[in-house]
Formats: sequence, structure tokens, C-alpha cells
Amino acid sequence: MDYVNNVGMHKFDPEMTESILEYVSKRLALTETPLDGILDVSQLPKLLEGLVAESGIGFEKALKLYDEKISQMVISADSPRYFAFIPAAPTKASLLFDAVISAASLQGISWLEAAGAIVAENQVLSYLANRAEMPETAAGTFVSGGTSANLAALTVARDVMRAQRGFGRRSNVEVMVSDQAHSSITSALNILDIDAYVVPTESYKLNQANLQKALDKHPEPNRVIAVVATGGTTNAGYIDDLVGVGNFTKANNLWFHLDAAYGGAVLLSDSAKNLLAGISNVDSFIVDPHKWLFAPFDCAAVIYRNPELAKKVHTQKASYLEVLHDQDEFNPSDYANHLTRRARGLAFWFSLITYGAKNYQSAIDASIDLADRVRVEISSRKDLKILNDSELPIIIFEKLGWHDQDYQNWAEKLLQEQIAFVAPTTFNGKRVARLVFLHPATTLEMALAALPKPL
Ligand SMILES: *Cc1c(COP(=O)(O)O)cnc(C)c1O
Repeated sequence: MDYVNNVGMHKFDPEMTESILEYVSKRLALTETPLDGILDVSQLPKLLEGLVAESGIGFEKALKLYDEKISQMVISADSPRYFAFIPAAPTKASLLFDAVISAASLQGISWLEAAGAIVAENQVLSYLANRAEMPETAAGTFVSGGTSANLAALTVARDVMRAQRGFGRRSNVEVMVSDQAHSSITSALNILDIDAYVVPTESYKLNQANLQKALDKHPEPNRVIAVVATGGTTNAGYIDDLVGVGNFTKANNLWFHLDAAYGGAVLLSDSAKNLLAGISNVDSFIVDPHKWLFAPFDCAAVIYRNPELAKKVHTQKASYLEVLHDQDEFNPSDYANHLTRRARGLAFWFSLITYGAKNYQSAIDASIDLADRVRVEISSRKDLKILNDSELPIIIFEKLGWHDQDYQNWAEKLLQEQIAFVAPTTFNGKRVARLVFLHPATTLEMALAALPKPL
């Protein structure tokens, strides 16, 4: 097969381009993205049977299959009626520019290949570090998600602290984590072969006192190398006492990592930023722009106070890569466990400079305000009871008299009727209801429609 004889896979096809751009345009024009996700997926294998074959079916049939079947079997994370897990609400500019990044095959591996993209990505990373009041020299990279970002930072914490304490490469070390920490922390520590030293919290928050109490009880405190704090627990929205954690890590010479995958977005809000007071003392932190910073999937930032430490740990060495390190230039590939990477931070960058930070601030504040108004409504109902009192726009509540199955039925019915996508959770050992507000287009009416009906 050569360029001339194949079907023209690399030749411009005006009809295909027009069809796909038209589809994209139609999708972007939706003011309220439908939830979808209710078409029965069990018919799909039959529909796809034999499609990966010697001969292609052409873009018309392929696109139709996606539009009419596949996309209908996916719940739209960017629907303003999506209140489960952590929703998404990418801006129009970020979605469009993501298409540009794809069309340009833009990678962001090394300075040699992609200096322009890297300067722009680093501009937003610096902006985030600056909002966190970290030193000018703080830097990092964008990876696929909070899970990868936490792993990248904790790898650096492990290697740096082991070396600093004079421990060997395979020696046992432990990391203090709260009983509320995200599952990705457990996963990262597992990969790193490090034990978590779980610290019990009062009212769901780590603070200096509960950390000190736990460390005092540790049989070998010298083995403890780091603390992972959470800047917004994913289930309930609680933010650890970061000032207290910082005092503790400083007094005990521990690495301070902050997982702010979700809540880190408040850095952009002048009124809510103080919820993360103390973030300036971290050694590393992460935030997912694909969550509450309105960037497309997949985009997570990992930022180090001292990026040189991360570079020593993560730089890959190979003869064919030596040319990348001839000069001391900034290679994003050196700051996490990745090499080839899409310039995924650019969609966020484009949107941020297009709309300006004030618009981000009001979009973030809007969901905090909405959650406050929904809380008032729930509190006024005798049959409902709010169970969390956290700072972020997540509401956990129960309906008196409901059992596990009732919550399940509630969720299923709302999706079936395309009123809302909700997912029950477990809080204090009980199955309960949970609503997360993130999309600026979510109205009070949409939110209230998701509440269980009064008796
Ligand atoms: C979402 C989340 C993660 C995981 O991020 P992914 O992007 O889903 O990998 C980690 N920590 C916290 C606190 C989160 O909210």
C-alpha cells in the first residue's frame, strides 16, 4: 500500500470534513446537553460485528453508528443535569481548541519539538502556582488525571525523602493519609510499594493535632516521610486544615503533598480561595482542570515547589533521547511518569486567555451559590436531612425511611426520565443521596427536580 494506492487516508476529504465539523457544530450548539445514556448497550456488539475488517465502511456509516447508537449509550458528563461523581463542564472555547490540538497533532513532549506549546502550557501552570502563592520557580506538567498526577508527585516524595533520610532504595517508608483520602492515593502508594499510615480524623479533616497524635503512636516515626492532605474530598467536599498540616510537616521534616484534584479550582475564585489557605506551603499539589476548571478530558496538573527534584526522579534516559537534554531546557516529559504526551494543557490555556480569569471565578462561585440555595431548600423539608457541612458544592443527604434500594430506584428513575444523573453514595456507613453542582448552566429548578419527591 502506498500513498497513491490506498483509499486516500491522508488526503483531504472535503465531504468527510464537512460532515464531521457539522456534527461538532451541532453538538456545541446545544445549550443543554441531553443526558442520554439510556439506550440499551446490549445491542451494540451485534451492530459492531465484523466492522474491523479488510475493507472499511466509509465515514458516513461510521459517523451514523456513533451518532445514533454509541453516543446514546454514554451519559453526557457535561450535561447541566449531571450531579453524580464529579461532573464536567468544558467551555466552548476549550472544546473547540481541543479539536485544533487534535487537527494539528500537537504533542508536548520536549522543548526541542514543541517549545511553543510548552511555553503556553507552562503559563497556566505558573498561573495556578501563583494563585497558590508558591515560589516563582514552582513548575510541573499536565498528565491525564488526578490519579497519574498523585502517582507522579508521590514518586518524587518517596525518592527524595528516602535519599534525605539515608534510607536504601528498597527500605520501608510510610506516608500519612487521612481516612478520607481519595482511592487514587491508595493506588499510588500500592504501586510505589509504600504503606499508608492512615490517620483517623475528627469531622473528616486532617489537622495538626490528629497528625501529631498519630505520629506519636508510630513505632518508627523516622519511617514516615510524607503527608497527603486533601483539598476537597471527592465524596463529601471537606478540605483539610492545610495551615495545620503545613505546620506539622515543617516541624517534622515531612513532604507535604496536597491532592486538590477537585477543590483546587477555588484557587481561581477570590472569594473562595481562602478555603485553601495554607496551600502555599506544599511541596507538591495537583488539580484537575477537567473537573471544576472547565477543561476537556483529560487534563490534570501536577505542580512541584522544587521542580528540579521531580526532574531528577522522572527524567527518562535513553540514547535516542540524549539530544533532548543537551541543554537545560524544559521538557514536560521530565516531570511525571510519561514520555509521549498530547499538549493537553493547551485547551485550558486557550480558554483561560480567551475568556479571562474573572469569568472562571464567576462560574466557580455560581456552583457554590447554587449548592447553598439547594441546601436551604433541603433543610426546609421534613423528610430530608443533610449529613455533610463541607465547604464545596457537594450535598449528602438522606430521605427518612429510605433503604439502599430506594436510593437506587431514585437514581434509575431520574435517568430514565432524563431529569438528572445522580449516584447514591455511602457516608458514615450508610447508603445515602449525593448531589454535586459544577456546571454553570445548572439552574435551581434543575437541581430541585432531582430531589426525592415529598411523601
Ligand atoms: C477526582 C479525584 C482524583 C482522581 O482524579 P482522576 O482525574 O479521576 O484520575 C483524585 N483525588 C481527588 C481528591 C479527586 O477528586
